[in-house]
Amino acid sequence: MRAVADRLRLRLGDAPLVRDREIAATYAVDASFWARPPVDFTVVRARDEADVVAVLDEAQAHGIPVVPQGARTALTGAACATEGSIVLNVEDLRGLDIDPVEGHARVGPGIVTAELKAAAAQVGLHYPPDPASVDSCTIGGNVATNAGGLCCIKYGVTADYVTSLEVVLPGGQRMRTGKRTAKGVAGYDLTGLVVGSEGTIGVVTSVLVRLVPAPDPALTALATFDSLDAAVRGVLALREDRHRPALLEFLDRASIAAIQAVGDFGFPTGCEAALLVQSDRAGHAAEDVDRYAATLAAAGATEIAVADNPSEADLLMRGRRMLNNALEAKGGRLAEDACVPVARLADFVRLGQDISARTGVEITLSGHGGDGNLHPSLFFDREDVDGWHRAEAALAELLRAALDLGGTITGEHGIGVQKRPYLVWELGEPELARQRAVKALFDPRGIMNPGKVF
Ligand SMILES: Cc1cc2nc3c(=O)[nH]c(=O)nc-3n(C[C@H](O)[C@H](O)[C@H](O)COP(=O)(O)OP(=O)(O)OC[C@H]3O[C@@H](n4cnc5c(N)ncnc54)[C@H](O)[C@@H]3O)c2cc1C
Repeated sequence: MRAVADRLRLRLGDAPLVRDREIAATYAVDASFWARPPVDFTVVRARDEADVVAVLDEAQAHGIPVVPQGARTALTGAACATEGSIVLNVEDLRGLDIDPVEGHARVGPGIVTAELKAAAAQVGLHYPPDPASVDSCTIGGNVATNAGGLCCIKYGVTADYVTSLEVVLPGGQRMRTGKRTAKGVAGYDLTGLVVGSEGTIGVVTSVLVRLVPAPDPALTALATFDSLDAAVRGVLALREDRHRPALLEFLDRASIAAIQAVGDFGFPTGCEAALLVQSDRAGHAAEDVDRYAATLAAAGATEIAVADNPSEADLLMRGRRMLNNALEAKGGRLAEDACVPVARLADFVRLGQDISARTGVEITLSGHGGDGNLHPSLFFDREDVDGWHRAEAALAELLRAALDLGGTITGEHGIGVQKRPYLVWELGEPELARQRAVKALFDPRGIMNPGKVF
């Protein structure tokens, strides 16, 4: 590995190399619970596009694996260093330039998502993608994982906003994809190929995103239910509303119990499910949440609270925001991701509860119910290797159940290392072979994030 670091030092100088091993180790892992640094890896914090070009040229020439990296919030192992790799961190590529007339922003991959949202808001515009990690994840990471989040039911995912990319390919060649105009149909959609490719094709060095007019501050309704079917009836009815909610989150009874174990967030004891719904429609949010509340009452909600101002709306969201901490507090956890057709949501939750009862693995099922996209958490004792294996076996059953219901093994977190064994279940061999062939076209030596996705 000394040879790799020495070679990079000759090309780049000392400055971008992270030499302190303890600091370097923090770059070697992402947020997946099992991530451990390998023995042999080199970390480069690129200062600019030229550094990225030099690293990918050197890596291609010598067949060295490269792990592109943003803020390391991936939950799948996608951003973890592998043995002998160069970790190429691009958090310092941070340009941000908004053009209000075209309604777009040119963004460096290292800009944190919340920074882009705040900058857009200052000129009356809105960048909608809203992963729960918004305060720490980067635009480059969001592009590479096609990140979703809480507001997809109305606004869609990252792919719906990316119109053009600058990408450095293995060997150091620069490629610009997509269009910089409001319309454009020239050739294949290579922007769409790179979005969601998890660093397996090239390194994104610049992103052009579409912005939309700023909405109003969101208002919220919180409804609780004593039956799962009633809650899912509510989800389906709200999806048919002429004005789609900006957020529609689902909590099952196990998630509610975990939240209430941390503090009293106002959920009644014994309730089976809860829904949080928001409107941010300019000039109409109050009328929308009142209508949503009536819809949920008709679906069978037992209790409904409606916030008629933004600070009350924020209070109603407190329990949902506490969810991740509450689940973390329970111990070892596989933080998972699957998506089913919305009409099959109740079936999916029930199957998850059955798997939990049968295997003895505690499972909570909550998340972006309005999209049919849940984040199951499967718990195990950190000291008990068998417990972890049981949780993984239960996860495999849960993913199979999602596929059998017509769903997918990942709604928004991606494949990474964690879900690699299951990808063939979803794609089948014919598509998987063609996906590998597409990767090989861009990355013939297989240096881009090897061992991830495929
Ligand atoms: C508490 C928590 C909540 C989360 N909530 C959500 C959520 O609601 N919705 C959601 O979708 N995700 C969520 N995530 C997952 C994660 O935040 C996203 O996948 C995010 O997009 C990763 O961004 P990052 O900057 O941390 O990228 P990293 O973790 O550093 O990298 C992720 C992937 O992108 C690649 N990559 C990064 N930058 C580049 C680049 N410039 N060029 C090419 N490839 C690159 C990496 O190689 C890796 O494959 C959550 C994570 C946590 C910890």
